[in-house]
Amino acid sequence: MPTDGNIIGHRRVESAPPDATGVERLQAENRRLRDLLNTLTRDASYNEGVMRRFQERELALLAASDLPDLMRRLTIGLRGSFRLESVRLVLFDPHGVLHELLEVMGVQSAKIPHLTLEQDVRAALARYPDTELPWLGPWEAGHQPQAWAAPYPRSEALLPLRQADGIAGFLHLASSDPKRFHAGQGATFLERLARIAAMCLENAVNRERLRVSGLTDGLTGLYNRRHLDARLREEITRAQRHGHTLGCLFIDADHFKRVNDTHGHAAGDQVLIVLAKRIREQLRGSDLAARYGGEEIAILLPETTPENACQLAERIRRGIADHPIELNDGTPLQVTVSIGVGAVRPGSTRDAKQLAEELLAEADRRVYEAKQTGRDRVCCGD
Ligand code: GH3
Ligand code: MG
Ligand code: MG
Repeated sequence: MPTDGNIIGHRRVESAPPDATGVERLQAENRRLRDLLNTLTRDASYNEGVMRRFQERELALLAASDLPDLMRRLTIGLRGSFRLESVRLVLFDPHGVLHELLEVMGVQSAKIPHLTLEQDVRAALARYPDTELPWLGPWEAGHQPQAWAAPYPRSEALLPLRQADGIAGFLHLASSDPKRFHAGQGATFLERLARIAAMCLENAVNRERLRVSGLTDGLTGLYNRRHLDARLREEITRAQRHGHTLGCLFIDADHFKRVNDTHGHAAGDQVLIVLAKRIREQLRGSDLAARYGGEEIAILLPETTPENACQLAERIRRGIADHPIELNDGTPLQVTVSIGVGAVRPGSTRDAKQLAEELLAEADRRVYEAKQTGRDRVCCGD
C-alpha cells in the first residue's frame, strides 16, 4: 500500500562538478531545481492519489449499514481497494458480547470471513509489538490470531483500534510484497484509517446493542413479546408463501407462584433464567423463542410439522422435569412445565393477522388443557 512517507527525502539530485565554471554551476543548479520541482510535483500528485483512496475507504466505512456490513467493509472491502493479500479484523470480546450480538442478528461470528473474536485479551495483546501506533514490518506468524497456510504474505501492518475506553482490537493488513510495509515508513494515513475504523465499530456496536435491547427481555435474554408479535406475521406470510407449516409452542411454568412464595422472588428469577437456557439449547437457529408473559414462553418453529413440534415440546418438557434446578444456595428445585402446541398449516386463505391470533389462541388453549389434566405434560390436540 502506498503510504505517505519521506518520499522526497530519499531522492538524489545531481550537482555540478568541483571544476565547473560559474555558468555551468548555474546551469547545474537550474537542472537540480527543475528536477526537484518535477519530483515534488510527482510526489504531490502521488500523495493526493493515496489520500483520495484512503478518503474513499473512510467514507465507505462511515456508510456501513450495520455491524456485519461494517466488518465486511473493513476486511474484504479494504483488501480489494488496497489490493492486499489479506485484511483480518481481530476484536477483543472477553465477555462474549459481540459474539452474542451477532448471534441475535442471525449472524454467526464464526461465519464472518476474516473476523477473529478474542476472548483471552491478555494473550492476544501479548502477540502485538505495538499497541499504541501502527506497526509496519515483515510478516510474522507469531503476530497472527490463526495459523496460515503457505504461501505466507511478506509484509504486514498491524493497526491498533483504539476507542475511548481502551483498545478494541487490531486490523491486520498483509501483502505479498516485502516492500509494501516496512519499519520507518510514514503511517499517518493508516493511523487515521484505524481511528475512523475504531470509531465506526464503536458506533455500530452501540447502535446494535440499543436495537437488540429493544427486542429482548432483560432477565432471560429471550425476545420480548413485541418482537414476537412483529415476527409472527412475517413467519406466517412466509410459511403460506412457501407452503410450509409453522409450529408454535406455548410453555407455562407449573405452580410458579409457589416457587416465589417458598424460595423468594430472586430464586424465581434464577429459575426463569435456567428455563430459558434449557429451552434455547433445544432450538435451531431459525426458531424464535420469546418471553410472552411472566413465566410464559412462546416459541415459533418455522417449517415444522405438528408431529415434530410435539416431539420437540416433549424433549423440552423432559429436559426440565428430569434435571432439578440448583438454586444459588445449593437447594435443588424440581420444576415442571406445561406445553401447548399449535400450528398454521399451508393453504389457509385467512389473513396473517387473523392466523396469528388463532395460532396463539390454539397453543394457549392446549396449555390450559395440560394444566387441567395434571400439568407437567404436552398437549398437541388431535
Ligand atoms: P400454574 O401451574 O397454573 O401456571 O400456576 P402458577 O403459579 O405458575 O400461575 P400463576 O399465573 O398464578 O402465577 C404466575 C407467577 O409467576 C406469579 C408471578 O409472581 C410469577 N412471575 C411472573 N413474572 C415473574 C418474574 O419475572 N420473576 C419471578 N420471580 N416471578 C414471576
Ligand atoms: Mg402463567
Ligand atoms: Mg404458571
